[in-house]
Amino acid sequence: MLKLPLESSIAIEGVCSEEEILVESYRVLSLPKFERKVDYTTDLRSIDPVELAKNSHWYLRNPLWTKILKVQERIINSAREFLYKESFTELLPLVVSPVTDPGLRGARKVKAYIYGVEHEVSSSIIMYKQATAAVFGKVFFVARNVREEPPENILSGRHLVEFTQIDLEVAHASLNNVIDLGERIVYYICEKIKSDEELLSGVNDDLECFKPPYPRVTYDDALSIVNKLGFNIKWGVELTSEAETALAKHFNSPVWITEFPSISRGFYYLQNPRDSRYNVDFNLVMPGVCGEVIDGGLREYSYEKLVDRIKLHNEPPEKYEWFLDLARHGGIPPSAGLGLGVERLTMYITGVRHIALAAAFPKLPGLTKTP
Ligand code: AMP
Ligand code: MG
Repeated sequence: MLKLPLESSIAIEGVCSEEEILVESYRVLSLPKFERKVDYTTDLRSIDPVELAKNSHWYLRNPLWTKILKVQERIINSAREFLYKESFTELLPLVVSPVTDPGLRGARKVKAYIYGVEHEVSSSIIMYKQATAAVFGKVFFVARNVREEPPENILSGRHLVEFTQIDLEVAHASLNNVIDLGERIVYYICEKIKSDEELLSGVNDDLECFKPPYPRVTYDDALSIVNKLGFNIKWGVELTSEAETALAKHFNSPVWITEFPSISRGFYYLQNPRDSRYNVDFNLVMPGVCGEVIDGGLREYSYEKLVDRIKLHNEPPEKYEWFLDLARHGGIPPSAGLGLGVERLTMYITGVRHIALAAAFPKLPGLTKTP
């Protein structure tokens, strides 16, 4: 048997039928010419994520990384398959806009200049989802987002500076509609991948696909559960990565956290009409180290309330001109939607413990000039 290294090329002559080629002769045209700058054949899971990110252009040759990225491709394909069956329309995401997601909780937005005018690189396409749900009813984007995460988030193992969301929105949907959609899409993707043994072999033999429905706890109840488990999280603050992991372990299942305090979130979530301290929103936390994979909720659509809340967040309403123009004239319908983090779900499905392995060219918090 002829064994050649990856990236060699050969010319073969023979007879070709539909199923096979009967080789009569072959010639090696070239062997890979590069020097092996890093040893990319070692066990990727034991490599420091910073080293991995700096040399991702070499480590990509590692067969485990190739397999993980094949799984990721299937995650995206399966999500599309699911959403097309549910009559969603896919639109292409924007990369740069006059203004992007205002509710980033600690991360910073990145500026871009078009003809010298300041713009923002997409950190989420929330407002475009609301605007297009008006026209298409059910809409989704496979969207890349850029956020300057605080450098210390490199330690969480689940934050990238550039990541991907399957971002969907449904006009006139209820909270239950989108929670149901969220757990069905995760289950559909898991089952699709689990049923392809070849795809997962050597990557994750222990993938567990949890059948919906998943338990739901309010933010307040989640806080008292994790604080009883030894955490000390104050009301109004997001659960830490470790607290999320502990919560999913407590339920031994994916778990929905609902009704977050509205002070800690973006202005576009709908506040609970009975208690405006809380939003009508949710997160889905998966078991293991990947934590929150879905974030979503009902959206605010009243012009007056949007302006009030933008001001409350110390933002100038003029920045949101096009969006408020729609809202003022009734062009933003009531809607609900969610964003599913593709790299986070890749972590769960492939069982990798650091998000650096869940992206082809990972950009890690605090690290610059990586490929
Ligand atoms: P957010 O609206 O900020 O909660 O983001 C929506 C989803 O994107 C989250 O539920 C995560 O799955 C994912 N996500 C958010 N921030 C990051 C990040 N820095 N790196 C990777 N995935 C992220
Ligand atoms: Mg979130």
